[in-house]
Amino acid sequence: MDNETARKIRENLTADCTKCFGLCCTALNIVASSDFPINKPAGTPCMNLQSDYSCHIHSQLRNQGFKGCTVFDCLGAGQVVSQVTFNGLSWRENPDIGKKMFQVFPIMEQIHEMITYVAEALSYAIPDDLAGKLRKQLNELQDLTKLDADNLLALDLVKYRFSLNDLLTSTSDFVRRNTIVKMPVVQELEEFDHARANWMGKKLKGKDLRATDFRGAYLIAEDMRNTDLRVVNFIGTDLRDVNFSGADLSTSMFLTQMQINSAKGNVKTKLPYYIHRPSHWNN
Ligand code: SF4
Repeated sequence: MDNETARKIRENLTADCTKCFGLCCTALNIVASSDFPINKPAGTPCMNLQSDYSCHIHSQLRNQGFKGCTVFDCLGAGQVVSQVTFNGLSWRENPDIGKKMFQVFPIMEQIHEMITYVAEALSYAIPDDLAGKLRKQLNELQDLTKLDADNLLALDLVKYRFSLNDLLTSTSDFVRRNTIVKMPVVQELEEFDHARANWMGKKLKGKDLRATDFRGAYLIAEDMRNTDLRVVNFIGTDLRDVNFSGADLSTSMFLTQMQINSAKGNVKTKLPYYIHRPSHWNN
């Protein structure tokens, strides 16, 4: 598989709600919060879900307190569960399959998330042995998406996450090191490691943070306006309400649409090829 094919796989992992039976609006257990105004038990359709599986308040979600719905992204898991695992049968007309369908949805979501990371890793120019291991992992994960419901429910996803973690860290280290050696002042990779750190309240606006490792870090509500964030590893970083207006994320690594949907930005924010500019970034 070449870098371009991997890039296409990553790019195409997006939700197509027209092929999904409203699974995110039905399957999940949602507790009332500032992001969702009501308690909604797992397996119960949201009161705003219409008979055609569209949302009655789609254009007013934020105004009506449903901000969380504009952040959520299933990475295409919903349409795969609806059309592949359950072969186009809906829980509405076939209530007997509903319970299983709702249990499979979060499992498929996790598989799709892992596929996005592996495909992105394979889109970079990385050593052959690392690419070989990632290709093997990608094939295994893609095969999992074709399993039937019972086999999906029996999966132990932890073992996949465990091996994936090392491969993604190696990819990030390799790509970031290649960036660091081209910087005017060459530094050690370790100096860019801020994994799992709490960075809330730091003054990062306008800084050159290229090649930083922010994996698992807390950056909630951080001011990152006009910050250079190219080749930054953002895997698992909490980016809620971070202000990315004018920031350069064009080559940031391992971002997800949900992370970006939970942050703030504007038309000047540069985003990676696989991230859509959120419609609520309107200035
Ligand atoms: S408010 Fe709309 S998008 Fe949110 S869960 Fe309900 S039906 Fe789905």
